[in-house]
Amino acid sequence: MQTYWGIDLGGTKIEGVVLSAPSPDAVVIRKRIDTEAEKGYPHIVRQVGRLVDLLKAETGYRPDHIGFGTPGTFDPGRQVMKGCNTTCLNGTPLPLELEKTLDVPVTLANDANCFALAEATLGAVPEVAPDFRSVFGVIMGTGVGGGVVFRGKDGQPVVLNGLQGIGGEWGHIILEENGYPCFCGKRGCNEQVFSGPALQRFYHDVSGEKRSLKEIYERHKAGTDAFATQTIERLLEGFGRAISVIINVLDPDAIVLGGGVGNIDLLYTEGVERAKKYVFNEGRLSTPILRPKLGDSAGVFGAAML
Ligand SMILES: [Zn+2]
Repeated sequence: MQTYWGIDLGGTKIEGVVLSAPSPDAVVIRKRIDTEAEKGYPHIVRQVGRLVDLLKAETGYRPDHIGFGTPGTFDPGRQVMKGCNTTCLNGTPLPLELEKTLDVPVTLANDANCFALAEATLGAVPEVAPDFRSVFGVIMGTGVGGGVVFRGKDGQPVVLNGLQGIGGEWGHIILEENGYPCFCGKRGCNEQVFSGPALQRFYHDVSGEKRSLKEIYERHKAGTDAFATQTIERLLEGFGRAISVIINVLDPDAIVLGGGVGNIDLLYTEGVERAKKYVFNEGRLSTPILRPKLGDSAGVFGAAML
């Protein structure tokens, strides 16, 4: 029987899934173990091996391919990982080592790309745009990321990793001149304007008070806090500008918004209106902007679909 194997390699947990068909309802097994990242890179590789052995033992199946979702990305030129917040992975030849250890071909993509692939194939996109040519998936949460999925020559959806492995890296496009400094070395990246922490930081700077984004949003809706309204205005305006760039370049058949900030319902109304203002299309916008359907499962399902 053909099975689909996916591993989501997170900073605290490694999750594995085996699917008997490309469907969220076809889970044969799903399992999590601790990453124990503090014990270093060789230990993480061993933990992945342990998880794959468990999946094999409990299902009786063997993989002929495994897809991996990871933080950061693999640089195809230098053949090493980069941009991982699990920093001990940076500079390592992770996918090559995994192939050797697991003795099976692996495909690796960053977690935002896995999110995009999962939502494009198994999640929110099929009912709206089943014959999509391209989909952009966005994660707006603690960080901001993105992934591009397009339909390959054989009709199968594939992730666009790009020449340098940075395809879809939407979080680090500069949106604001002299904005907040970013870990990437620049200032005012999308991530420093409308990630959850950046919005909370902005609210704190203008109001002098610390509040969660959820509270800030509630205070904005109640209309009682001008600083909260200023913060949500910053989100909507930043989102509108940033997403209009994607639409102008890619003009995808659908966009899916994941992550905690993506739960803010105004993004789907007022946020879309802002994008409409900035997109190069005579004030019209028919791009479906969708809520995700797979929740926390998107990472591991996307890995399985690689
Ligand atoms: Zn940045």
